[in-house]
Amino acid sequence: MNARTGLSKSSADLIIENARQVVTLQGHSREPACGHQMDELGIIEDGAVAISQGKIVAVGQTSFVNERFSSKNRINATGKVVMPGFVDAHTHFVFAGSREPELEMKIKGVEYLDILKRGGGILRTVHDTRATSKQQLREICKVRALTLLAYGTTTIEAKSGYGLTLEDEVKSLEVIRELNQSIPLTLIPTFLGAHAIPPEYANNVSEYVDRICDDWIPEIARKKLATFCDVFCEKGVFEIDDSRRILETGKRNGLLPRIHADEFYPLGGAELAGEVGAVSADHLLNMSSRGLGSLKHAGVIATLLPAAPLTLMIDKYPDARSLISNNVPVALGSDLSPSCWIENYQLILALACYKLRMTPAEALTAATINAAHSVRLADQIGSIEEGKNADLLILDANDYRLLSYRPGGNQVNTVLKNGIPVVREGKPLQ
Ligand SMILES: [Zn+2]
Repeated sequence: MNARTGLSKSSADLIIENARQVVTLQGHSREPACGHQMDELGIIEDGAVAISQGKIVAVGQTSFVNERFSSKNRINATGKVVMPGFVDAHTHFVFAGSREPELEMKIKGVEYLDILKRGGGILRTVHDTRATSKQQLREICKVRALTLLAYGTTTIEAKSGYGLTLEDEVKSLEVIRELNQSIPLTLIPTFLGAHAIPPEYANNVSEYVDRICDDWIPEIARKKLATFCDVFCEKGVFEIDDSRRILETGKRNGLLPRIHADEFYPLGGAELAGEVGAVSADHLLNMSSRGLGSLKHAGVIATLLPAAPLTLMIDKYPDARSLISNNVPVALGSDLSPSCWIENYQLILALACYKLRMTPAEALTAATINAAHSVRLADQIGSIEEGKNADLLILDANDYRLLSYRPGGNQVNTVLKNGIPVVREGKPLQ
C-alpha cells in the first residue's frame, strides 16, 4: 500500500531509477516527428522506467514511478541517460566476405559505378555470398548482430540483395528469419533483388526485371520472407520504369515499398517514392525540389545515410536542413554494407550532426522514433511510453548530446531487449 496515495502498488519485473535523463521521445507513435518536433525529446530528469513482461508499464520521475510500482529488481541509473534502443532503418546486413582493396581504388579516385563495371563492388560481394552456405552466413551475421547490439542498436532493417538468384535471395532472407528467433536483435526483412544487375543478365536488364516481378516477388511473398521490397533506383542500373514496376509488383504481393532514391543522379527516385506511396526514400543526395515536394505530399519518410557519402568519398551530403524545414520526417540509417562497414550507430548520429548539420536532438529522434516509423514498428518501439517494448539503453553519459559530440566511441553501458539485459558494460551477454 502506498502511504500517500492509498493505492496498492503493482509489482514490476524491473525498475530503472534515478536516471539523470530519461529521453522518452514520447508523442510520436502514430505520426513521425517532423519540423521543430524533431528537436523535442520529452526528457524527464531524475527519471525512472518500470518494466513488466517485456513491456514498459510506467515512465516518469523516480518518485512518481516508485509510488505506483515496487520491484525486487532495480537498476540505479544515477548520473546516466536512459533512452530507447537505436533503430537502424537501412542496412545491407546479410553479406559474406569483405572488400578492403576497394579502399585504395576509392583513394585513387575510381568512382563507385566504375568499380561496379569492373566486377567489383556489389558484384564481388554477390560472388562471396553465393559461395557461402546458409549455415556459414548465419554464423557470420550472428557475430555482426551482436556487435550492433553492443553499440545499442536493438532493431534493424535488413536487406537481402547479395544473392541475386531466387535461391540465394531466399537463403539470405531465411538467415534473417532464423536470426530473429535466436538472437536479441529485431531484424525487419527487405527483399532487394533489384540491388544490382547480376552477371548472368548483364546485357538484359528487362529479362532480369521480369524474373524479379514474375517469379521471385510472388515466391518470397508466399513464403512470408519479407516485409518490404526495395530497389536500387539509379541511372544505368534500375531506372524509373523498372523501379516502378518492381515496387508496384511488390505492393500487389503485400510487400511495402522503399527505395534507394537519387543517390548519384537526380533521376526522379524521390518523385517515384511519392507516386508509389513508399514508406521510405533513402539517400536523396541529388533529390530535386519536385522530389522533395513529392515526399512531403505523400508522407514518405526520408531515411538519410550520412556514412554513405563519407565512405564513397563524395563531398556531398543530403540536405537534411531543407527536409526538416519542409516538415518531411527524417530517419537515419547506417547503410551497413561491405562498402560502408560501420557497426557503431552512435557514429551515424555524430555524422548526422557534423555533416548534415542536424542537432543532436534531431539526430536522436531520427535514430529512434522516426526510424521506427521507417520500418513500420512505431507502435511497438522507438520511444519510452507505456505499452511499448522495453528496448532500452543506459548510457555511460549524463547528457544525450555526448552521443553525437564524441564520435567513434561506445557510450552504451547496458542494453535491455524486451526488458531483459543483453549487454552489460558494453559487452553482449550471449
Ligand atoms: Zn543501401
